Formats: sequence, structure tokens, C-alpha cells
Amino acid sequence: MMSEAAPALSVVVPAYNEQEVLPEFHRRLAEALVAIGMEWEVVYVNDGSRDTTLSVMTGLQAADPRVAIVNLSRNFGKEIALTAGLDHARGSEAIVVIDADLQDPPELIPALIETWREGFDVVYAQRNTREGETWVKKATAAGFYRLMQRLGGKVQLPPDTGDFRLMSRRAIDALLKLREQHRFMKGLFAWIGFPSRAVRYDRAPRAAGTTKWNYWKLWNFSLEGITSFTVAPLKVATYVGLVTSVAAVAYLAQLLFRTFFFGNPVAGYPSLLAVVLFLGGVQMMMLGIIGEYLGRIFNETKQRPLYFTERYAPSRMDGVGSSG
Ligand code: UDP
Ligand code: MG
Repeated sequence: MMSEAAPALSVVVPAYNEQEVLPEFHRRLAEALVAIGMEWEVVYVNDGSRDTTLSVMTGLQAADPRVAIVNLSRNFGKEIALTAGLDHARGSEAIVVIDADLQDPPELIPALIETWREGFDVVYAQRNTREGETWVKKATAAGFYRLMQRLGGKVQLPPDTGDFRLMSRRAIDALLKLREQHRFMKGLFAWIGFPSRAVRYDRAPRAAGTTKWNYWKLWNFSLEGITSFTVAPLKVATYVGLVTSVAAVAYLAQLLFRTFFFGNPVAGYPSLLAVVLFLGGVQMMMLGIIGEYLGRIFNETKQRPLYFTERYAPSRMDGVGSSG
């Protein structure tokens, strides 16, 4: 039986409350892809938006048959929305992942495709500058990447790289085999391996709308990254325990020495209290770290599906030229 014609390239776009930018995004995307010489589709994932994003998508699909829509049953967060898009992407040769807010320029996609044609499975876009971001955000991002590089071991995260990238069909198939609930995409992208190459570009500030990130979310994102990427924090517990035990023994030896040679001066309870509180704090923190991992184990053992799709409206390839 013949299956329905699939496009060679899928562009996957997760969107949450992006009604203002989507039409402009689609216009620029279609324009950027005019000259690539492949049939393409764009898979818009509506991640439970509260605004009119879904009807904007429906409008785009009515005007352009290359548009596919995945409407999720609620807001699941970017990482899962992205996975839903990748699950539904029919691109038989390559898949591009891009944000809807035009911070990732669609005009870079032809350059990604060119590098992919040189034989790289993963072509990731690497930012030169972070225009329009505060120095605090830049500094925290830099610190995060440095930490992850220290912790990464064999799996190294490329710095200043977001989700914007092109991946070959076989790389995407590998990625989709990783079905964990806690989806730290940067980590998953790095984990699968395959020949990779960076293409550099300048990241623009958001075109419209507002970012859904704040510092609390970024902190949680970093925790997510570290705990789903490495078990190094668990080792910290071992070493902190070791160091405090050695310090305690040294302190005891000093106490005994003073008692035997100089009598028994009572040091008083403040020092005792300080030590007890300090150790209590350290123990709580270590329990917290164990708890972070335990919570993740709990979530994974439930084996829930990653998301539910309310509706999937595929793109229609028939009768559409590659350059539209
Ligand atoms: N996004 C999503 N679900 C969410 C939050 C964001 O699908 O719960 C989408 C959003 O519409 C955008 C992309 O993920 O296309 C990146 O989001 P954002 O611009 O807020 O993140 P930043 O660029 O600041 O990392
Ligand atoms: Mg953005």
C-alpha cells in the first residue's frame, strides 16, 4: 500500500501564547525556505495556549497546506510540546526545531541544511551574542554552561546552544527513543551523539509577546538539567560527609589533648549549638538532593504518556511544489 507522500523536511515549532508573532513567523519561514529545493512542512504545536494561537494556526493552515497542527490537551511545557511535534513530524530526511518568537532566525535554516548536506546528522545553531538580555541572564547562563561542562563527562553540552537545530531522520529516531518524563532537551540532544557541527548566528531579542521565563523557572530548569543529566550532586553528599567526619575527629582529638594536659575548660553550649545546627543543615541539604532524584524516580516509575493530543491536523503535500 502506498503511504501518503511525506515531505523531506519538517520544521517543528512549539508555541504557547504566540498569537502576535505566528503570522510573521510563518511568512518569514516560508520566505526563507523558498530556495532550499526540498518539499517541506511546518508542524505547529499549540501547547495549551490561553490566547487565540490555535485559531491563528488554523488560519495559517487554511492558507497554506504545508502547515500541520498538533493541538495538545493542555499546556505541557516547551520540552514536551517539542517532543509532541517531533513525534508528529513526517519529514523523511531532516527535521528543524525552532522557536516561534523569531529569536531563532528562520533565515538560518538554509545554512543548517547546507551543513547537513555535508554529512552532519546534527547541525546546531550557536549564538554569537545575546542581544536584549540583561547581563545577569548572560552571566547566569555562562555559569550554567561552565558547570554542566564540568559535570558532563563523556556527554558534553555545546555552550550557547538552544534547541534551534537541524537533525537527520536517524538522529530524530534515536532521540524519540528517549521517553523520559523529565526532558532536559539539551541533555538529550547531546546524549544521542552522531556527527555534529555548529553554525553560528546572532540571536535577536523577542519579536513580540513576552518570555515565559523568570529566575525561579530558570533555577528549576538548571536543577532539572543537572539532576537529569548527572548524578554528581549525590557524590557531593559523600564527600561533604567525609570532610565533616574528618573535621569532627580532629576536633575531638584537640579536645582530648586539652582535657588531658590542661584540665577540662568547659567551652559552653554556643559552640555545641553551632556545630549541631551546621550538621543539621548539611544533612537536610543532602536529604534534599536525594529527594530531587527520588522525586524524579517517582515520576518516571508512573510510566505515563508524555502528553495527550487533542487534535492532529496533518499537512497536505499533494500538489504543492517545494518552493511554494
Ligand atoms: N513554549 C511552549 N510551551 C511553554 C512555554 C514556551 O511551547 O510552556 C514555546 C514558546 O511559544 C516559544 C518557545 O517555546 O516558541 C520558547 O519559549 P520562550 O521564548 O518563552 O523561551 P526563551 O526564548 O526565553 O528561552
Ligand atoms: Mg524566546
